Order: sequence, then structure tokens, then C-alpha cells
Amino acid sequence: MNLIKKYITMFRADMKEAMTRRCGLDELNNFIMLIGFIFVLIALFTSNWICTLFGAIFIVLCYVRVFSKKLEKRQKENSIYMRYMGGVVAFFDYYKLCIKMRFRTMQDTEYYYFVCNTCHQIIRLPKGKNKISVRCPKCSQTFVKRT
Ligand SMILES: [Zn+2]
Repeated sequence: MNLIKKYITMFRADMKEAMTRRCGLDELNNFIMLIGFIFVLIALFTSNWICTLFGAIFIVLCYVRVFSKKLEKRQKENSIYMRYMGGVVAFFDYYKLCIKMRFRTMQDTEYYYFVCNTCHQIIRLPKGKNKISVRCPKCSQTFVKRT
């Protein structure tokens, strides 16, 4: 029993050590995974084998990149991707943050949360103030908000 435990802890330590020197989920991998998922979803609904194949290819590609040890190469790929798609990634990140803040506002009884559309800073306002003019603390842009 103890021997098994020992091996498990050794294995875990190895895994942890191994993962720190690997690519992991960078922006490019998120994108590859998303494309893979879209193909898999289409394949599920249409049972089209080409979509299944493409889905599998993208998901395998993502796994290969996640576990890749050639960090420099992977970072180079990601920086090329970010050079062309950085704006799109930032755009989606902004909307994801907006939706998150919408949910937070719904759960919070005292505060209203929103995201500055220029610098993406989260701004918190007390609820029930009706129309209010606020300035972003980070980029000084002013907004008129209804809370
Ligand atoms: Zn701002």
C-alpha cells in the first residue's frame, strides 16, 4: 500500500514538474480548441464525417501544443497569432468581462458593475442613484450611467 502511495506522489510530482515546462493553454490553443469544438458540434448534429475528422484534428493539435516542450516555438506561434488576432481576442475578452459583470450586478444588491470600453477597467457604482456621471479611474474617460 505504502509503495503505491509513494509511486502516486512521485508521479504527481513528475507531472507537476513536467507541466511547468510546457506550453499550456495560451490564446492560440484556446482558439484551436474552440474551432475543434465547433466542428465536433456540427458533426454531432449533421453526422458529417468530414466535420468529425476536422474536429479531431483540431483537438489533437491543441493537445499537442498544450503538452509541447518546445516552449520557444510555441510562444513564437502564439505571438504571430496575437499579432493578427490580438484585437479580436481583446474584443471577446471585453464582452466576456461585460457578461461576467452583468451577472455580478444581478447578484449584488448594493453595487452596479460595468467595464470601461476603452481600458477595460471594472468600475463599481452604488445602486439606486439613477443617472450618474462617472470617470474611469484608469483612463479618465467619462460615462453617464443609469444604475
Ligand atoms: Zn477606462
